[in-house]
Order: sequence, then C-alpha cells, then structure tokens
Amino acid sequence: MCFLQKTMDELPQLKIGFIGAGNMAYGIAKGILTPGDVVASNVTVSAPSKNNFARFEKMGVTLTHSNEEVVQTSRLVFLAVKPHLIPAVLKAVSAHVTPQHVVVSVAAGVTLATLEGLLPGGSCVMRLMPNLPCMLQEGALVLARGTGCTQEVASQLKDLLSPCGLVEVGPESWIDAHTGLSGSGVAFVYVFAEALAEGAVKMGMPSVLAQRIAAQTILGAGHLLRDGEKHPAQLKAEVCTPGGTTVYGLHALEKGGLRAAVVDAVEAATQRARELG
Ligand code: NAP
Repeated sequence: MCFLQKTMDELPQLKIGFIGAGNMAYGIAKGILTPGDVVASNVTVSAPSKNNFARFEKMGVTLTHSNEEVVQTSRLVFLAVKPHLIPAVLKAVSAHVTPQHVVVSVAAGVTLATLEGLLPGGSCVMRLMPNLPCMLQEGALVLARGTGCTQEVASQLKDLLSPCGLVEVGPESWIDAHTGLSGSGVAFVYVFAEALAEGAVKMGMPSVLAQRIAAQTILGAGHLLRDGEKHPAQLKAEVCTPGGTTVYGLHALEKGGLRAAVVDAVEAATQRARELG
C-alpha cells in the first residue's frame, strides 16, 4: 500500500516527476507548485529535447533528458507524453517502478488495464484527464484509480491537484465522458465564441472588439454558472424579458438545432475516446 504523504507537513519532502514537458505537464506542475507546499527542486521533469524546458526553468524544477531518472528520484510520477508513446516509455522505466510509486497517466484513451499491464503487478496507477485551461489553473480534471491504488491515495492526489482547478474522482467510465464534455468541450466553446463574434461583425461591430466581448461574455456567464447555485435553465430564464431580445435570439438558436448539435458533439467525442482506448 502506498501513501503520497501521511500529513500535509510531509509535502515538502514529496518527490514528484513528470515524463514529458508539454502543455499538460506544465499546467499540472504550475498548479501543484502554486500553494508553495511542494519544493520546486523536488520536482523533476524529463523530455528528449530542450524545446519546452525554458518555462520549467523559471519554476526552478529539476530538468533531465532521462525518464529513468524521473522514476528513480520521484514517488509520484505523471506520464504526460502523447498516448502512442506510453507503451515504449513505460517498458523502458518499468523496472524502476516500486510499490512506493504512484503513477498517474494523463494520456487520452490509454486505459487503466493497459497501464497496469505495462507495469509491475500491483502498481498504484491512476488516470487523470485534464483540459487545456489547466495551464491557467482553471482546469476541469477527472481522476480514476486503478486496482492497486487506495481511495486514500486518490483523495490525497485530488487535494494536491486542487490548485489546477475543479478536480473530481470517479470511475474510469467518467474519463471518456469527461474527455467529450471538457477536454474536447473547450474547442466546442471556441466555436461558439467565434460564431458569437461573427454575429456581431455581421451587425457592424469591429472584429477584434467582437472577439473580446464574446470572450468576456463566455467568461462572465461561466463564473455565474460555476459560482452560483442556479441551474443553467434558471439563469437563462432570468435573462429573458417577455417579448424581449433574448427570447427571440433563443428561438433562432433552437431552430438552428444548437442544443441537439452540442449533445451530438459530446457524444461523438466520448465515443471516439472509447474507440481510442
Ligand atoms: P505536448 O505539449 O505535445 O507535450 C508532449 C511532451 O512529451 C513534450 O515535452 C515531448 O518532448 C515529450 N516527449 C516526447 N517523447 C518523449 C519520450 N520518449 N519521453 C519523455 N518525453 C517525451 O502534449 P500535451 O498536450 O501536454 O499532451 C500530453 C498528454 O496529455 C497526451 O497524452 C494527451 O492525450 C493528454 N491530454 C492533453 C490535453 C490537451 O488539451 N492538450 C487534454 C487532456 C489530456 P519535447 O519537449 O522534447 O518535444
């Protein structure tokens, strides 16, 4: 049985590694280091090139080209490489993985069963699905634990990751739905933002201004939805004056099939995530 740390006082001793130095590794590392409990020099990041090292250097973390060194020096290891690289990367480091390690993969579509099959029997393995706003500590993350991980370790990891954004622990089946909803959902929101701004440009507003206002509109609406207790339907109703502008616009959206298209998009992305697994 492995525990990341027995008490919060032990966080400064916790050694954390990242295999891969891309956007997800950066966002997660930045979130973990933000509260100041984890010591930056206890975080080791590896990648084959130095292309992505500059932003990690600014954090004060340890950098290496050796994935083996990450596993040997860390207790908690994040796998943050592209999904197709996971088998080769794990085969190369597997001999260094001990019962004290907690291995967390962020790779889309690589199942817990696959990960466990590539590591020594009984290894504590988890899947973490972040999304792009993780880079700004505004992410939405879902965590699923493998058979070798206790609920306690999952809870500790949830706490450690909480500065990255909203973190939820659940069954592995949630990971694919979360990929459709939030991993891919970020791109769906960008399409909506683009269309919102295009509508204003059509009505005569300068494009740059329309984009800025569309972004602020989505941000403000998102804050109200996240931080309030209200269902989206209730918030929507509050904006609708009888016979007013919003209800006319909403009718046009419904006629255009926006709601069904969004449901279809989340379903298609979730199915694709399942196929990749
Ligand atoms: P990325 O920005 O392309 O970064 C990939 C990193 O992996 C790079 O630093 C690369 O090294 C490194 N790398 C390549 N081969 C390696 C090897 N053999 N050993 C160690 N490192 C190696 O990718 P990303 O967007 O962070 O995605 C990482 C993972 O997160 C993927 O599996 C993806 O499915 C998952 N994910 C991404 C998102 C998203 O929105 N981006 C959301 C959810 C999950 P160099 O720096 O030398 O190129």
